[in-house]
Amino acid sequence: MMDDIDRVLVGAEEIQTAVRRLGQEITRDYQGKEPYLVGILKGAVVFLSDLVRAIELPVALDFMAISSYGTSRQSTGIVKINSDLGQNIQGMDVIIVEDIVDTGLTLAYLKDLLHVREPRSLATCTLLNKPSRRKLEVHLDYVGIEIPNEFVVGYGLDYGEKYRNLPDICVLRERVYANA
Ligand code: 5GP
Repeated sequence: MMDDIDRVLVGAEEIQTAVRRLGQEITRDYQGKEPYLVGILKGAVVFLSDLVRAIELPVALDFMAISSYGTSRQSTGIVKINSDLGQNIQGMDVIIVEDIVDTGLTLAYLKDLLHVREPRSLATCTLLNKPSRRKLEVHLDYVGIEIPNEFVVGYGLDYGEKYRNLPDICVLRERVYANA
């Protein structure tokens, strides 16, 4: 697996610094509340598990499993819900937790979908942001790290279901895609 990596874009320490900051921001902004964190499977799992431990408030966790149509490196924004939330979110303070926002299509779709369920508030939190690729302007309340227009893997992010367990966020060698 290590042979497939071209370089580390964001190292584990920088990731943890960003996660701690996001946890502090959420702790500050949700005083007296109990945020309902919705992790988007599978990519956000690693980030979410670190993020909840950086939030000093009672939190509830839930998950949505989605798949977006398109090639493995390009989303179309047409999202299929494979597994929905476990409970009604009406009146809750919901935070959608994503691994990465690229074109913005997936998060915009998810926001619309959850908005109609009438949460008391609906915020977005992403570890990584690729603003140069945005097709749809979607408001991001909490952003960890801005990255350039590169396809990345690691810390939950995959290519063909591999590399999610890398502790750093990495760029793969071109030959990995050439062999696909
Ligand atoms: P968007 O709809 O914003 O274009 O893309 C969001 C989804 O596409 C992310 O949740 C992620 O699953 C996938 N994605 C976008 N950029 C990357 C990337 O650089 N690496 C990986 N592994 N997935 C990405």
